[in-house]
Amino acid sequence: MNETPVIDKNEIQTQRAVMELVRSSFDGSAPKALVETYGCQQNVNDSQRLRGMLAEMGYAFTENREEADLILMNTCAVRDNAEQRVFGNLGALKRLKAVKPGMIIGVCGCMAQQEHIAERIRAKYRHVDLIFGTHALYRFPSLLAEALEHRSRVVDISGEGAIAEGLPVKYDEGVKAFVSIMYGCNNFCSYCVVPYVRGRERSRLAEDVLAEVRELARRGVREVMLLGQNVNSYGNDRGETDAFAELLRRVNEVEGIERIRFMSSHPKDLSESLLLAMSQCPKVCRQLHLPVQSGSDRVLRDMNRRYTAERYLSIVRRARELMPDISLTTDIIVGFPTEERADFEDTLKILREVRFDSIFSFIFSPREGTPAARLKSAATDEEKAAWFQEMLDLQNQISADINAKCVGEVQEILVEGESRHEADMLFGRNSANKIVNFRGDISLKDKLVKVRITKAQTWILYGELI
Ligand code: SF4
Repeated sequence: MNETPVIDKNEIQTQRAVMELVRSSFDGSAPKALVETYGCQQNVNDSQRLRGMLAEMGYAFTENREEADLILMNTCAVRDNAEQRVFGNLGALKRLKAVKPGMIIGVCGCMAQQEHIAERIRAKYRHVDLIFGTHALYRFPSLLAEALEHRSRVVDISGEGAIAEGLPVKYDEGVKAFVSIMYGCNNFCSYCVVPYVRGRERSRLAEDVLAEVRELARRGVREVMLLGQNVNSYGNDRGETDAFAELLRRVNEVEGIERIRFMSSHPKDLSESLLLAMSQCPKVCRQLHLPVQSGSDRVLRDMNRRYTAERYLSIVRRARELMPDISLTTDIIVGFPTEERADFEDTLKILREVRFDSIFSFIFSPREGTPAARLKSAATDEEKAAWFQEMLDLQNQISADINAKCVGEVQEILVEGESRHEADMLFGRNSANKIVNFRGDISLKDKLVKVRITKAQTWILYGELI
């Protein structure tokens, strides 16, 4: 076990002083910033930190690129299509920069952390002023100050990744919030770039996590999502065992918080004590996102996942024994290079056996620098696309069947606002995180209400307020 790296308090003070300096350098109206986020919840949370620092530096915010004085793209490296979107958007910003040369364009996050991507941006996108990786996030004020002062390009993809407490966060509006409990990943699944761009696992101290949750509750947040690449190994880097189960119990005691969710969980690290904590903590939602990735032991081995299909199923059985109403969701990769038809059928088998509420599935996307990117594919692109569709058809049927069984149930819904798709309806989410539409007054927004489910579709439920 190595010591968990933590950024020194003096360094955080330095960044705070730089924020003050930047703020005082703006005279007149506040400049406007736009932070665009790609990828996972961890990135959404990082963007809230970037916005927090920008707000301290005196920036106001806009969603309109033409209006912005600073555009920052917080990028994702997990799949190729997210990367291509970033490059496309960066290309489009060249014209904007030509008419507004004073604007700052920055690229940060997982893509920027990779040397070959940073090099490509440096060489081909000369209108980008600022490139920094995930490990330099806490140094953003200094990097921006340098770009503003010298009007020259600033690049920082150095560092190893460390915990930085005490920086400002600008949370999104509403009663739900993300709370990162750890960063990085030690697992090195053979297809995944995350351990290379986010570094080794670093767990925040439970006291720091709890202080943030209490502060969120004080601000009116009712639901927290605890985030980590693998929350089940929370505390391992500090030599603790079963620390996540213990953290869950302590968050459950925070007054004002009414719902707790978490993601992601690696099946190899999911413990009996975590399932017990989930079942015994009334605020923990009856929902478990447990990425299986494949139903074939051979493919799981090639993915370096370190569990078998049977081990996965035994966790599901135990979770259902303790929480019969638990909703299960998963991630699946179709077309991993060594996957053959028989392996894919094992995945269909696990779908039929578990009957997930929903799945998040993708066709394998090779990531430079990972072992799987060097493997030759057994199946053709056409075969992979056909398998993918076959799996979606099966899952849609399962999801629709599960939802149909909800009709008649009375469920507790956290109301999020007016439905964007159904006129005169409110929408909220149940404990399983499914959207429920129903008629009601907007004054119910942000409240927990009881709704009887009257109609079910594959992805959405409808109901009436009780
Ligand atoms: S557990 Fe595997 S898939 Fe998840 S972030 Fe770590 S390496 Fe990637």
